Amino acid sequence: MKRKADQNLRNSDEEAAKDEGKRKRRKYDSEYVSFGFIAVGTGEDLPLCVVCLQTISNDAMKPAKLKRHLNTMHSDFVSRPKPKEYFERQKELAKNIF
Ligand SMILES: [Zn+2]
Repeated sequence: MKRKADQNLRNSDEEAAKDEGKRKRRKYDSEYVSFGFIAVGTGEDLPLCVVCLQTISNDAMKPAKLKRHLNTMHSDFVSRPKPKEYFERQKELAKNIF
């Protein structure tokens, strides 16, 4: 009886591991720079806001969420888009932090 319980426990652990693998990590797209985000982290899969230099979760790696961050946190950025040089400079800054 005990042995069966152990078996069940192991199976459920394996199920959990499988679920973990299925959960896909979102990929950074170079277009996201137009929303003010660059990629940092292992595998460059964390979006970093170049305005506040804060990373947000990989789960938020999609245009709608990135835009929402910009619109709510940095509305001035939206009305006055920054030149490419701004991103480059912020990226260098970010590299020193991360
Ligand atoms: Zn920000």
